[in-house]
Amino acid sequence: MTTPPAIRATDIRKAFGRTTAVARASLDVRDGELVALLGPSGSGKTTLLRIVAGFEAPDAGTVEIGGRVVAGPGVWEEPDRRRVGMVFQDGALFPHLTVSGNVAFGEPAPGRVDECLALVGLADRGRSYPHELSGGERQRVALARALATDPDVVLLDEPFASLDAGLRESLREEVVTILRAAGASALLVTHDQAEALSLADQVVVMRDGEVEQAGTPEEVYDHPATRWAAEFLGAADVLPGTADGEVIDCELGLLPADRPLRGAVDVVVRPESVAIGAAHGPVDGAPDAADVPDGAAKARVIGRSYYGHDQLVRLELASGQRLRSRSHGAAPWRQGDEVRVWVAGPVSVLAVASSAR
Ligand code: ATP
Repeated sequence: MTTPPAIRATDIRKAFGRTTAVARASLDVRDGELVALLGPSGSGKTTLLRIVAGFEAPDAGTVEIGGRVVAGPGVWEEPDRRRVGMVFQDGALFPHLTVSGNVAFGEPAPGRVDECLALVGLADRGRSYPHELSGGERQRVALARALATDPDVVLLDEPFASLDAGLRESLREEVVTILRAAGASALLVTHDQAEALSLADQVVVMRDGEVEQAGTPEEVYDHPATRWAAEFLGAADVLPGTADGEVIDCELGLLPADRPLRGAVDVVVRPESVAIGAAHGPVDGAPDAADVPDGAAKARVIGRSYYGHDQLVRLELASGQRLRSRSHGAAPWRQGDEVRVWVAGPVSVLAVASSAR
């Protein structure tokens, strides 16, 4: 028998008065998986998470946890019976309880408090009070509390949002390591693309209360389903093209298509897929004119930002189409330079109609 998904939400709908928070959304979190619910502010992520937790009842749709229906037509299981652990943005610790007291709040099994504090690296802080901890430590206590009752799933609502950038990054990795060590299945709400792509096994992209696309980080980034998803997930330039099954013809030449389409298409090009070479003679740190592939397009440099680890060069093609190139090279391109550009990485195509939404 196959294991049921840790979470399955099917056709969820939720309105608050005249505001539709979740229009129609479905998602699965498989056993042991970390799924990021990613979307801009107001796209319905928190509402969907709260519906899974049982803090809100859906107007329509079904929520299953570990294969049992906890919300749906004629079914309602209270949040404290759903076997979910929650971590909120601000930790939401009880200030008058010690760290141990906080972790013990859900009355976990004997020994579990110490186990969970050890899991989050705070074995020696059990007697401290929340105000004596750093922001990152408080979030780790919140995670220990969420894990203490051995929940079937852990739900995390922007758990790193209130931390400063450096701490956020290190805590993110720690939290994922802890969740994996605990074998937990987790659903994480975030509006941060890098966070979703770097942490999650699956990313569910939400827009206006609906799931725009769901897939692995590689699928949603390299093969966005819509122009909106392409631009939301990272920098993308979109060029008109014509697809003939496997091949796309556009201003950057003939490119392999990532999906079979025919007719007018939008070609989505990420800056890191665009290479630049000298149009004439050698330029330090750039492919020489002699090494530029045949058929590379002509372009003019209109700007350059150097970041140390890489640089972003803004370009204009002969048609006036704008394009960006991100590369490790430090070639000192200057505004007005005539260059050649070509595709040296994945691009994806979208049927033109799909970008109209
Ligand atoms: P954010 O990242 O800003 O938290 P979100 O994607 O999590 O956004 P939600 O918080 O789920 O989005 O909100 C979706 C929509 O529903 C918004 O328009 C919001 O104002 C509205 N909304 C959410 N909760 C309520 C509520 N309790 N009462 C009224 N409107 C609500």
